[in-house]
Amino acid sequence: MGSHNILQIAVSVPLPTLFDYLAPVGAADVTEGTRVLVPFGKRKMTGVVMGKADHSEISPDRLQTVIEVLDQGVPLLDEQLTGLLRWCWKYYKHAPGEVVASALPPALRTARGKVPAPALNYSLTDAGRERLQQPAGRTPAQHRMLEAMAAGALGDEALATVGGQWRKTLARITEQGWVKAHPTPPAQPQIAPGPVLIPDQESAVNAILDQFGRFGGHLLDGVTGSGKTEVYMRLLEPVLSAGRQALILVPEIGLTPQLIRRFRSRLGLNPAVIHSGLSAGERLEAWAEARSGRAALVIGTRSALFTPLPRLGLIILDEEHDASFKQQDGFRYSARDVAVKRAAALDIPIVLGSATPSLESLSNAIAGKYTWHRLRERATNAPMPAWRVLDLKQQSTMHGLSSIALDAISETLKRDEQVMVFLNRRGYAPVLMCRQCGWHGGCERCDANLTWHRSIGRLCCHHCGSQRAVPRLCPECQADALTGAGEGTQQLEETLEQRFPKFPVLRFDRDRISRKGVMDQQLEQVRGGEPCLLVGTQMLAKGHHFPGVTLVVIVNIDQALYSADYRALERMGQMIQQVAGRAGRMKRRGTVILQTHFPDHEALELLLNQGYETYARWLLQERQLAGLPPAGFQALLRAEAHDREVAERFLNDAIQSFPAGETRAYGPVPAIMERVGGRSRMYLVIQGDSRVALHRQLDQWLPGLRKLQSARKVRWAIDVDPQEL
Ligand code: ADP
Ligand code: ZN
Ligand code: ZN
Repeated sequence: MGSHNILQIAVSVPLPTLFDYLAPVGAADVTEGTRVLVPFGKRKMTGVVMGKADHSEISPDRLQTVIEVLDQGVPLLDEQLTGLLRWCWKYYKHAPGEVVASALPPALRTARGKVPAPALNYSLTDAGRERLQQPAGRTPAQHRMLEAMAAGALGDEALATVGGQWRKTLARITEQGWVKAHPTPPAQPQIAPGPVLIPDQESAVNAILDQFGRFGGHLLDGVTGSGKTEVYMRLLEPVLSAGRQALILVPEIGLTPQLIRRFRSRLGLNPAVIHSGLSAGERLEAWAEARSGRAALVIGTRSALFTPLPRLGLIILDEEHDASFKQQDGFRYSARDVAVKRAAALDIPIVLGSATPSLESLSNAIAGKYTWHRLRERATNAPMPAWRVLDLKQQSTMHGLSSIALDAISETLKRDEQVMVFLNRRGYAPVLMCRQCGWHGGCERCDANLTWHRSIGRLCCHHCGSQRAVPRLCPECQADALTGAGEGTQQLEETLEQRFPKFPVLRFDRDRISRKGVMDQQLEQVRGGEPCLLVGTQMLAKGHHFPGVTLVVIVNIDQALYSADYRALERMGQMIQQVAGRAGRMKRRGTVILQTHFPDHEALELLLNQGYETYARWLLQERQLAGLPPAGFQALLRAEAHDREVAERFLNDAIQSFPAGETRAYGPVPAIMERVGGRSRMYLVIQGDSRVALHRQLDQWLPGLRKLQSARKVRWAIDVDPQEL
C-alpha cells in the first residue's frame, strides 16, 4: 500500500472521533479540508477530510472507500481553518464531525451543495473591437452589448441592462471570440473622510496601529457613544487599503441595517453579511465571496467566525461581553475565545470593543495579556444620564410600576419626549425574597444563593445541590411577605396603555420583533421623534440609539441582586449601563430611574456611584475569593431526560468515576430553568484553579461516561467555560 492513503474524515454524527476511509482508487492526492461522500452505515454521508495516515486501527478488509471527492481543486477549508477546528473539538470536547459541519454554510453540508462559481467580468478582445467598427447588421443586440463593453469590463448585472435574452447574446459573442471572461477583481475601498478624532480615540487608534502586523488582543473599553465604531473604521482603512480582509463580529441583535449602511458609506464597499436569518443561498454566496477573497469586509454574527478568509488582516468583535457570542447548544463554543485563537494563529490583531467589558476580558487587560484602551468621554459631548434609585419598600406599585415612576413618565411625555420602560424578564434565576426585611434564601452548606423552583416548591443550591422546602412565612421576620422577584410585570404593557391612552406603546421583545419588518417599522417611528413609550427586554439594551428618549425606567433588578447564578451581577451591571447609554444621546440630559427593594445593596452603590470599572473590579475580587471564572475554570456535565430521576442517576454514576486531581466535581444540581420542553435538566459542576488540570481530568473521564449503562437514557453534553447554569 502507498503511504497516506488512509483519509481521516469528519462525518457529522455525535461521536467523538474521525473515521478512517481508503482514498478512492486513482484519485489525485486528496487535500485536508476537502469534502467527500462516504458510506456510513446504511447511508451515504458528506464528510470533510481532516487528516491522513498510512495506518488504521481498522483491519484493511473492513476499511471502506470514499465514494466521491466532492470539491475538486482547492479544498473547501484552508489549512488555517482546519487547524482552528481541530483545536475547537479538543478544547470543547465536542464531536469533530459536528464541529466541522458547523463551520460550513448549511448549503454545503450535503453532497448536492456546490460552491458557486466566482462572478465573472467580460471585456472586449481585439477581434471584438474590430467587430464593433462594423455596422450592427442583423445582430443589433450583440452590437449593443459590445458597445456597452467598449468603456471597460462589465459584470452580469450591467450586461443584463442590455435587455432581451442577454445571456444568449453574451454566449454568442463569447463563442465568436469577441469578448473574454475573467474573475471579478476584489472591490476597492473608497474611503470617505470621518470626523476629527477626539484625543481618546486618537490614542487608541495610534496604539493599535502601532502593533499592526502581529497578534495582539486589544480591549477597546469605551462608554456608549464614545466613538468605538469610529475607531473600528480608522483601523479598517489601512487594512482594506492594503488589500487585506477584515472580519467584524456583532451580537445577534446588533446587526442592524444602520450599522451596515454606516460601514458601507464610510468605507465605500459592500460588506458581505453572514447571519442565521439569511436564506441558504444568500449565506452560501456571501461565504463564497469571502473565501475567494473578493469580499474585503465580512460582518456577521457568531457563526461567521468560521468563514474562510485567505487574506484576513484584522478581527473586530463588537459588544464583546454579549451572551450571544456563546453558542448554547450542540457545539457550545465561545466565538470570542475562538476568535482570539484565530487571530493568534494568524498573527494578526483582534479588537474587543465594549462599554461594559466581560470580566474575562477585563481580567486579561488587568493582567496585561490584552492592551487596554479606554474611551471615557462621549464623542458628541452628550452628557451621561442622571440616576435615581427608588426604594420599592416605601412605594405603592401598580403592576410593578411605582407612582413616582408613573409621574415621571407622564411629565416626560407631556414635554414631547420619549420614554423607555425596561423589563428584565429573561436570563435570571427566580429568587424568593421577603418584601418586608429583604431576606432571601442562602445555602447553609456553601455561600451560594438559593434558586426558587416553583414547580416543585423547593429552594435549591446550584453549587452543592442541597435543597429545602419553601417556607410560608419569612424565616427572618415572620412576615407573610415572601414573593418571587420579577413577578407582576406581565401586565405592564396594558397598564401603560391604560394610563397613557394618547401615546403609542411600542413593544420590543423577541416574540414581536421576530416578525419581519416590525422592528424596522417601530424603530422608524421612534426615530421620527414623536412622544411614545418603548417597552422591552434585553433587546432594547443593545445596538440601537434612541436620541429622543430622555427617561429610562428599569422596572425590576432584584432578581439579579440575589441570583444563584454568579454571573447575574455582572450581567445586571452591563444591562443597566447599556440601557442608560441608550438615553438622551443628543441634547437633553437623560434620567434613569431604577426601582428596587434593596437600594442599599453594595453592588448598586458601587455601580451607580463609582462606575462600571470599579464595580467590575469588585466583582472580579469576589470571583477570585470563590475560585470562580475567570479566576478559576469550569465545565458542566449537562444531562436531560423526561424523568428527573433518570438524569440524576446518570450524573450520580458519572460523579463516581470522576478522576482524582486538582479539579473537583460537584452535584448533581437541577438547572436554574429546570424543566424545558417537558424535560428535566440537571448538571454536575467541574471546577478548579488550573485550566490544564481541568482539561486533563475531563479527557480521562469522558471516554468512560459513554460506556455507562445510565448514559443511554439521557441526553448529555459537556459544556466547557459555561455561561449559563
Ligand atoms: P459607540 O460605538 O462607542 O457607541 P459611535 O462610534 O457610534 O460610538 O459614536 C457615537 C456618535 O458620535 C456617532 O453619532 C458618531 O458619528 C459620533 N462620533 C464618533 N466619533 C466622533 C468624533 N471624533 N467627532 C464627532 N463625532 C463623532
Ligand atoms: Zn422578612
Ligand atoms: Zn450549597
